[in-house]
Amino acid sequence: MSDGSAAELNEIERLDKDHVLGTWSYQSEVSPTQIVDGDGVRFTDADGNEFIDFSGQLMCSNLGHSASRVSEAIAEQAADVPYVAPNYTTEARARLGEKLAEVTPGNLSKTFFSTSGTEAIEAAIKIAKFYTGKDKVVSRYRSYHGATYGSISVTGDPRRLAAEPGMPGAIKAPDPYAYGSTMDPMESLEYIDEMLMLEGDTVAAVLVEPVVGSNGILVPPEEYLPRLKEIAHDHGALLICDEVMAGFGRTGEWFGSDVFGVTPDIMTMAKGLTGAYQPLGATVVTDEIAAHFEDEMLTHGHTYAGHAVACAAGVAAIETYQEENLIERASETGEYLEARLADLADAHPSVGDTRGVGLFRGIELTKHPEKRVPFGERADKLAKGSTVVDEVAAAAGEHGTYVANMINTLIIAPPLTITEAEIDEAIDALDAALEVSDDAMVA
Ligand code: PMP
Repeated sequence: MSDGSAAELNEIERLDKDHVLGTWSYQSEVSPTQIVDGDGVRFTDADGNEFIDFSGQLMCSNLGHSASRVSEAIAEQAADVPYVAPNYTTEARARLGEKLAEVTPGNLSKTFFSTSGTEAIEAAIKIAKFYTGKDKVVSRYRSYHGATYGSISVTGDPRRLAAEPGMPGAIKAPDPYAYGSTMDPMESLEYIDEMLMLEGDTVAAVLVEPVVGSNGILVPPEEYLPRLKEIAHDHGALLICDEVMAGFGRTGEWFGSDVFGVTPDIMTMAKGLTGAYQPLGATVVTDEIAAHFEDEMLTHGHTYAGHAVACAAGVAAIETYQEENLIERASETGEYLEARLADLADAHPSVGDTRGVGLFRGIELTKHPEKRVPFGERADKLAKGSTVVDEVAAAAGEHGTYVANMINTLIIAPPLTITEAEIDEAIDALDAALEVSDDAMVA
């Protein structure tokens, strides 16, 4: 993989750098690597280097890179009719609506389609406001919900800072972060209860990732989410679960909410919905919420709401999860992954914590295990240059494994099809890469 020096860029990488604005970056630091092929859990760059995809790209390639059923469904739909206006329908859209009602818990039954996670959140916020007639949204600090204006306003991580003050009424609460916070996860819930009481009857929804993704793979205690739903409802607020990253088998259940046996009022999803074969977002609501819009206008929509090709990919992706038993498989392989991460923790003093559920796991690095000192502050996410954790991820790349990282955590979210042997290969690469953080520890 390119080491980032401009001289090494090939023609395509150079064109891209000259004409494409990179996401979330100082453009001077953008150094794209051209990817030319993907097969199973692996992908290949233009120099022929092969990588195990230990993070499913941006925690979205849940089906790996050669799910032929999905790519064939895309080609067929594009050949039949690629797009119709949202006031028409297609078999793909209707079937996907039906499938989502089937795989989501409880009385979640009707879907608003969009094209991304952030749009799924925007729809959820507007629906919650219209339904309750209230304005505020309580979300948590260690969260990411998307880059568009409403979604970045309810996002708690430092990426929100550049967009502040943002949407009015976006209030942040503490997190269930046992390793790095002084507040006990269940105590943080009672704090939210008090917040809602003090806000009076003005909060439309409490919005959480049931298992926090990019902000560090935070799995709350078993009782947390059921109690949060109770607290929200006690105060007349809806519970929105953002399943954009945790959904579609990532946790070993269909959805992160299923891990805790909770049916939220609204669920948002994207990423694994098509296994990233097409951009597609979905906001699924309960019967009651859907019924509210029978006689009140749903004042929301997009040209590409329910795009036929994207919906065809969604149907084929869900059929693949079902027919290949990928959800159960993720739960089993997840246990193996957990054990292998424990081996890394034993071998490397800079591994402060390993945590997660299913094939959704994190390795939090620390300069000082007893004091749990992070390698960088959360705000470093916005600074120029690379952190020690970035360097560990880059070193894993040198050893043939791609791993995403955010703030102090390496994020492990491979395709659900990964085998134990492939996990071993990736663990060997991380074992070598973690020398970098071990060497950077303080005495
Ligand atoms: N919610 C969560 C939990 C996410 O992880 C993300 C993306 N990482 C989003 C929302 C936003 O999704 P998108 O990038 O598709 O807009």
